[in-house]
Amino acid sequence: MPRLREVGEFEAIRRLARRGAAAGVVIGSGDDAAVLRPDPDRDLVATTDAFVEGRHWLREWMSPVEVGARLAHANLSDLAAMAAVPRWALVAIGARPDQELDELVEMERGLERALDAQGAVVVGGNLSAVAGEAWWTVTLLGDVERGRAWTRASARPGDLLAVTGHPGRAGAAVRLVHAGLARAEEWRPLLDAWIRPASRVALARALAATGAVTAAIDLSDGLAADLGHLAAASGTGATLERLGPEDALLDRAAAALGIGVETVRLGASDDYELLMTLDPARRESCELVCQAQRVPFTVLGTVAAESGRLTLDRGGQRTPIEPAGYDHFAG
Ligand SMILES: [Mg+2]
Repeated sequence: MPRLREVGEFEAIRRLARRGAAAGVVIGSGDDAAVLRPDPDRDLVATTDAFVEGRHWLREWMSPVEVGARLAHANLSDLAAMAAVPRWALVAIGARPDQELDELVEMERGLERALDAQGAVVVGGNLSAVAGEAWWTVTLLGDVERGRAWTRASARPGDLLAVTGHPGRAGAAVRLVHAGLARAEEWRPLLDAWIRPASRVALARALAATGAVTAAIDLSDGLAADLGHLAAASGTGATLERLGPEDALLDRAAAALGIGVETVRLGASDDYELLMTLDPARRESCELVCQAQRVPFTVLGTVAAESGRLTLDRGGQRTPIEPAGYDHFAG
């Protein structure tokens, strides 16, 4: 198993870089820079996300292929939240000299395959040596019909609030890992949500075609935090009647962890699901799209007029929701 210090930078880059042709790529990886030809009738959409070893990936829980795929989904999910089509990616890697080359190549292949499944290709990258934790940064470019990108800022009082998937599962898995409980087979679906997330690019595109979605954000910090971001950007509040679909496994995990179910559902969790606001008159068309794609879809409540006020209303019993989630620089 050769390490980077044995093979050197240029052999490593030769193994990592692929030169496939792809739509809109005039010059791909291998030159000083990629040359891309965006569609002049569409808006270009750009996002970037970094993964740091020990923070965003834990070696004992994720294979290199899974780490690469998960980083792809973190970026794909941001484009899904804008209803954009992923197209081109740039990858910057900071690796230690003792890093095994084969493992690095596997991470890259995991990343490439997950991007490829959504129609995006890697068009360039950079490899540098680091002394401490390894890190990977992906910049993903996509496009969307001109002026049609979803934003966080356009929710309207009276719109419905809905989520895809099972928010909270990824965060529950991380809590189980830190509590030393995650090896039990029972929690496998929660671990899968964390290790092998599925971003919602295809679903977002189909939902965009219904015209029902008024605002959107992807769930990467946790339901309360991301709801807080959306409400703040829109200048609205929110009243929720539920915090997600029925999820007996998540409830059992909360009990095993000795914390409240609401903490698990609202707290830090990078699920890469979508939180959307919808025109209530078009709810059914959204339900049909989600059924067709077999993605759970749950209406949580409604957008409220009072700016910043997030409330959980259970049969008339109202409690405030604190918009705290994952913060890289706090605690
Ligand atoms: Mg996001």
